[in-house]
Amino acid sequence: MTSTSHLAIPAIEPLDIPMRILIVDDLPDNLRVLSKMMVDDGHRISAATSGAQALRLAETIMPDLILLDVMMPELDGYQTCAALKANPLLKPIPVIFITALTSVEDETRGLAIGAVDYIVKPFNEAIVKQRVRTHLELKHQRDLLERLAQVDGLTGIPNRRALDQRLEQEWRRAARARAHLGLAMIDIDHFKQFNDAHGHLQGDDCLRRVAEALSETLKRAGDFVARYGGEEFVCLASVETADRLEQIAEQLRMAVEALRIPHEASAALPWVTVSIGAVLCEPTPQTAASAFLEQADVQLYLAKQAGRNQVCLACG
Ligand code: GH3
Ligand code: MG
Ligand code: MG
Repeated sequence: MTSTSHLAIPAIEPLDIPMRILIVDDLPDNLRVLSKMMVDDGHRISAATSGAQALRLAETIMPDLILLDVMMPELDGYQTCAALKANPLLKPIPVIFITALTSVEDETRGLAIGAVDYIVKPFNEAIVKQRVRTHLELKHQRDLLERLAQVDGLTGIPNRRALDQRLEQEWRRAARARAHLGLAMIDIDHFKQFNDAHGHLQGDDCLRRVAEALSETLKRAGDFVARYGGEEFVCLASVETADRLEQIAEQLRMAVEALRIPHEASAALPWVTVSIGAVLCEPTPQTAASAFLEQADVQLYLAKQAGRNQVCLACG
């Protein structure tokens, strides 16, 4: 009954699946040697021959690690690393310098810019491979923690932290594209009474099933469901009209009702239902996403007042 197979946050690949390494060097011979070493060690490789190309490639392939030469024409390795670290998307990718510059000052500078390691040439092949493995393992662990920090422990769907991040992203994307964004706040009706009548453990199970039903209903790309807190959920949907948003909210409401989870103590119906407050937003750079959460909350309040198990909608 309580499957979490719908998890909206993808599972992490185990480390024995090949990781992708971007190798950056202006000299083809160096690229060849390093590529062969990394392929021998079971990794997938992409190569760039300039800093600018590396920055472009990094954004498209999102490598797990970058091996970076220092001395390159135009953008050198230090500048390339600084640009990577200045980009929030690319910043988490570990960078290892591999260079012929051996002075303490050079190494200090490389590490200060944000590289995780600094390997000088001529290098020992086995040591380079081992250091790369160590940093890939650390990256893998960090990714895992980052994902866990975004998942609600009880229901397995994204949590409030994940929602805040996603809302911010979707908000900026919609503002740029002059698109609309649908936001719905969903609250289980008379849930305190459910806990009182059936016990807290049954209450937890009910929350899991509701979370799953909501996630299963909203599966298009760009849609997102999170546990907002307690017995409240928030969903984001890329929609352009109030009619479409109302349809979606209605589908969510019906999906929960269709579970037919007995709730004799409810004054609404003898099974678990939800009330939904929805807002069709028109994001702009001047408006804050949080204002629309408040508007959805107002609509939710109206849905409760009007008798629960229904959708109230406004255009923000
Ligand atoms: P309304 O229809 O107005 O929303 O009434 P309600 O009883 O659902 O709302 P209220 O805010 O009074 O109660 C929310 C209840 O949700 C109280 C709280 O014990 C329960 N709850 C919150 N988080 C959890 C949880 O993680 N597990 C369980 N079992 N219950 C929870
Ligand atoms: Mg509530
Ligand atoms: Mg409630």
